[in-house]
Amino acid sequence: MVKSSVLGFPRIGANREVKKAVEAYWAGKLTAEELTKAAADVKKASWTAIKERGVDLIPSGDFTLYDHVLEHSLSFNVIPPRYQGHNLSDLDVFFAMGRGRQAAGVDVPASEMKKWFDSNYHFVVPEVSEETDFKLRRNHVLEQYNEAKALGIETRPVVLGPISYLVLSKAAKGAKAGFEPISALPKLLPVYTELLAQLKAAGAQSVQVDEPILVLDAAAARAAEYASTYAALVKVAPPIVIATYFGRLDSNLEFAAKLPVAGLHIDLDRAPEQLDATIAAVKSTSLVLSLGLVSGRNIWKTDLTAAATLAGKAVQALGSDRVIAATSSSLLHTPVTLASEKKLTSEQRDWFSFALEKCAEVATLASVLNGSQDAKVTAALEENKTSIAKRREFERTSDDAVRKRVAAITPEDLKRKNPFEIRRKAQEKLNLPKFPTTTIGSFPQTKEIRQARAKLTKGEITEAEYDEFIKKEIELVVRFQEKVGLDLLVHGEPERNDMVQYFGERFNGFVFTQNGWVQSYGSRYVRPPIIVSDVSRPGPVTVQWSSYAQSLTSKPMKGMLTGPVTILNWSFPRVDVSRKTQSQQLALALRDEVIDLEKAGIFAIQVDEPAIREGLPLRRVDWDDYLTWAVDSFRLSTAGVEDSTQTHSHFCYSDFNDIFPSIQRLDADVISIEASKSDMKLLSAFQQYGYSNSIGPGVYDIHSPRVPGDQEIKDRVAAMLELLSPDLLFINPDCGLKTRGWKETEASLENVVAAAKWARATY
Ligand code: GLN
Ligand code: ZN
Repeated sequence: MVKSSVLGFPRIGANREVKKAVEAYWAGKLTAEELTKAAADVKKASWTAIKERGVDLIPSGDFTLYDHVLEHSLSFNVIPPRYQGHNLSDLDVFFAMGRGRQAAGVDVPASEMKKWFDSNYHFVVPEVSEETDFKLRRNHVLEQYNEAKALGIETRPVVLGPISYLVLSKAAKGAKAGFEPISALPKLLPVYTELLAQLKAAGAQSVQVDEPILVLDAAAARAAEYASTYAALVKVAPPIVIATYFGRLDSNLEFAAKLPVAGLHIDLDRAPEQLDATIAAVKSTSLVLSLGLVSGRNIWKTDLTAAATLAGKAVQALGSDRVIAATSSSLLHTPVTLASEKKLTSEQRDWFSFALEKCAEVATLASVLNGSQDAKVTAALEENKTSIAKRREFERTSDDAVRKRVAAITPEDLKRKNPFEIRRKAQEKLNLPKFPTTTIGSFPQTKEIRQARAKLTKGEITEAEYDEFIKKEIELVVRFQEKVGLDLLVHGEPERNDMVQYFGERFNGFVFTQNGWVQSYGSRYVRPPIIVSDVSRPGPVTVQWSSYAQSLTSKPMKGMLTGPVTILNWSFPRVDVSRKTQSQQLALALRDEVIDLEKAGIFAIQVDEPAIREGLPLRRVDWDDYLTWAVDSFRLSTAGVEDSTQTHSHFCYSDFNDIFPSIQRLDADVISIEASKSDMKLLSAFQQYGYSNSIGPGVYDIHSPRVPGDQEIKDRVAAMLELLSPDLLFINPDCGLKTRGWKETEASLENVVAAAKWARATY
């Protein structure tokens, strides 16, 4: 029999219960016991709901109050020394590693976070050295497995595999030069052995071991480790299904298919073309093939008939006992349920499936593949056919004006009038001092701001009242920046709920959910817009706010937009049109906005592209194509201005290795990048590449409430100046300040300004 499986589930709760509980705990308003209880309620609700949808293999062990990679680090005792010895509970050590801690004599910054493959989820990077004392400090997977079992729900535990865990780790500070975390594999293996043996003893029928790095080029060099590791683990573990996702195995298939495990999961949403080769590779083995048919990354209804046809190939070749119908990856990247969406039209609702609906899809698929004649299954399949047909029909309606404009884009549209050196002279009209200080755009989004927005949504205040409120906020932010002494000001983005959603709501072609939250990191969730048709801009979006802000001050004001690639990457994209086309449509809409800002007297304009790096394909052979259209889209959106207008861009988590030529090709006059947690490696790479435009590497981490010391920032600036030209350096925080409070913002920015003054006097 074909079984159905779900690789992981959102852990935020149907109504963001986890965020609320975790933040209340941080604020001292909830005890650890109450937090544990809130978490237990969410787990119970999820397991019960998945089971009700008829899923055979229900995940456990994937739940977390912050990050699943961090859960493993705590379980494995991979706890950097700076978080130890403070007499904290395990729970507080866990949160301290995730978000830093500054209280009662303890002052530790957060660990580095990185993007989880090409998604907008961030994981906490484990730090490993020769000194790491791996031991099974606790077994969070077992705890969750037993928790579900106690509720009468048999689950398939999920654990991140040892090789992926170490490849995703970084060398801890103090590790010997050249230390590679993967070299710790022999020391980590006994921990996995113990963890898996405990699962077996507890009665787990099988275990899902995630090895997502198998879709990366980097895994090719790990064939031997894979073979020996899994040969050892299968001896003690329940039957292991190795899960790969977000891409294709390619040449790694050869060794992956030979591993002595029970099953292999492949992502057919991202890479349906790998099915034939995978079937061929596993045919003569006893491996069960788990087929990722239902997208864990997008929200479109699965075409069940097409998916069943695809999966049918595997059933035919391997027999139904060797096939599992599954989600392509964990559903963590999708919202919990469509059931809470009351505002979508019935036509729109019918296009989508969120996590719970996807659970029903995998269950139906398995039944269909098993030849079920059950009336409910037949009805579900028929209903799905009708929905898919309606969506296809809708896709045939297009905005011809937009399509024509995209077709008419010329290479000239992508070019500024003159090279950077000439533009830089023209931009002296901005009157910025040496080492200009600036911020990335947003200022604290206070409770008052969120309340005002909620009131507007509920109709409790008028549009005009809301606008007045926003103006006051902008004024506050402007006065604050003047007081602190920043040079290039921003309006603070108080009018924006979210940097992508805000634009999506003002462009044609998007729809929005009310409750479609997806975890970005820790307790930060986003509500990605959905691109459903051709994108265009009905009218100016930000101009009124930026020009109001400029009218308040004689200092230059920086306009603030979200770039085309970021809007695309942080939305659920269409699947009927290429990402390139969607990005070009967005770029044209933004280009008009950039030109309108300039016309309104805004002569510094930042077009944020924090997601350009995360969108990079996982396989190197696919890079060029992506980088070409992604960089071109940014250029298309920014190149319409005069030399004297200074374009900025901003990136988070900027692992730019190997893509410096593309960063240069963006040709932004100034880029700001997150850099405070990545040592000086990133900057020396910029230096080595010979990056020629202005650059503002973040001088402190904004993801944590911790205030960076005055000397700390000066030291960082000094270190930067060893690598970068003093003429090109801007001084700014790592990222926007919207999640921060005012108090720490003020204290931190004062130190930033002091460091700039010191630098002007010193260099
Ligand atoms: N301008 C945005 C802000 O400051 C940039 C946010 C981001 O890079 N994620 O909030
Ligand atoms: Zn950022």
